[in-house]
Amino acid sequence: MARTLILGAGFAGIQTAIELDPLLPRDSAHEVLLVSDQNHFLFTPLMPQVVSSYINPRHFIQPIRDIRGRRRFRFRRDTVLSLDLPVRRALCLEGLLDFDYLVLALGSRTDYFNVPGAREHTWDFKTLEDAVVLRERLLDLAEHADHTSDAELRRRLLTFVVVGGGYTGVELITEMQDFLFHYVVPRFRGIAAADIRLLVLEATDQVLRGVHPHLARYSRRRLDAEGIEVRTSSAAVRCFPGGVELAGGAIIHAETVVWAAGVRAHPLVESLPGAHDRRGRACVNEHLQLPGYPQVFVVGDSAAALHAEQAPQIAPVAIDHGSLVARNIVALERGAPLDSFRYSPKGMLVSLGMNYAVVSIGRIRFSGYFAWLFWNAVHLWKLVGFKKQLQVALDWMLGSVFPRDASILRRPVRCRICAGGQAESSPPAPARSASASP
Ligand SMILES: Cc1cc2nc3c(=O)[nH]c(=O)nc-3n(C[C@H](O)[C@H](O)[C@H](O)COP(=O)(O)OP(=O)(O)OC[C@H]3O[C@@H](n4cnc5c(N)ncnc54)[C@H](O)[C@@H]3O)c2cc1C
Repeated sequence: MARTLILGAGFAGIQTAIELDPLLPRDSAHEVLLVSDQNHFLFTPLMPQVVSSYINPRHFIQPIRDIRGRRRFRFRRDTVLSLDLPVRRALCLEGLLDFDYLVLALGSRTDYFNVPGAREHTWDFKTLEDAVVLRERLLDLAEHADHTSDAELRRRLLTFVVVGGGYTGVELITEMQDFLFHYVVPRFRGIAAADIRLLVLEATDQVLRGVHPHLARYSRRRLDAEGIEVRTSSAAVRCFPGGVELAGGAIIHAETVVWAAGVRAHPLVESLPGAHDRRGRACVNEHLQLPGYPQVFVVGDSAAALHAEQAPQIAPVAIDHGSLVARNIVALERGAPLDSFRYSPKGMLVSLGMNYAVVSIGRIRFSGYFAWLFWNAVHLWKLVGFKKQLQVALDWMLGSVFPRDASILRRPVRCRICAGGQAESSPPAPARSASASP
């Protein structure tokens, strides 16, 4: 019996499993085994809205057992530790798995670009756990700031820096702005709007690079109007407890610095034989095969299809990769010619917080409220399953009418500065998930 082993149940891995299943003949003994360390599929575009308490984190993750339904593919929750490609074997935490075809869909991890202190003193924004922890961090600091009589301290507690002005950083900071100004300020009597400071640090000369310049300018104006400080050409060169240093020596004091500056390939992908691009992604041929290993495919954020125009690390590319590889595995089995990957940009949608977004699809570009409605509609439509769509739609509706949920589920932690010492005790350690840590 042949076995296709798919490692990683994100956009690319799930797509491969779902598409491969029906392509195989009914009576085929071919087994499709999907292995991932999380037993749910995470729809990452909605993660910033967890931080602003706009949606409940459980409402947009999809248990893989539900996606599988009556499909034939099997799922195993396990963590892959290493690969032995010549003998076609993967070593997982819970045992060895042999394969005939391998699909590597392990996603990416945070890239700290070797900035000193970045890994230790910034907050990650890569996994659902990161988003949940960051939400509680915001509320926790607001609770501390609310009862301090020291204005300087209050401002420092309420200064939030996001490093990275790409779409993740921009969507995150606008959600934070929305939550802090429209929920926290009216409800925390000890906090005024002027106490809150939000900054985006971008190393290049513009935010949202890759978005059409007209829309990037619109976004910049929106960020300015929302009181978010955007510092372009401002690379973070050092991070420390309580702040960040910029190139040129300027220091920003902030109790929370979130790192959303870039990603690189999963360590297992970086250790694959053959060439890699500067982000550690495995260079694959036009069929997404690893050179020298025709039965090994690399997809999604892990793959650099160098023959084609460089595709960005986004969900639609991962989904296209998954579909292509499903077809190519069947073609390999039949001895038929393989399909090639061609990158065709599908457009760019960036939310700028409540009521604003920018949309670019082909030659059509628009911004503002209708773009925001469009952003909502597209993301609702893309969610897997009617139940999840309903839950998220209800969250959005209720969130527009009723107050957001500001409960903190974790036990209180001692605030590093409120406790009296300026830097003696460490802040609560940012959550590091398996996929985010090297
Ligand atoms: C906060 C955030 C917001 C984003 N917003 C957007 C957006 O709006 N639009 C967009 O197009 N893209 C967005 N992206 C990018 C998009 O999520 C990625 O491009 C996409 O997820 C890549 O798909 P993938 O299948 O390659 O990897 P992933 O979806 O990351 O899946 C990788 C899978 O591998 C699993 N895994 C990792 N290590 C192991 C291991 N050792 N063993 C077993 N399993 C493992 C992981 O748990 C995960 O299930 C966003 C990303 C983030 C982090």
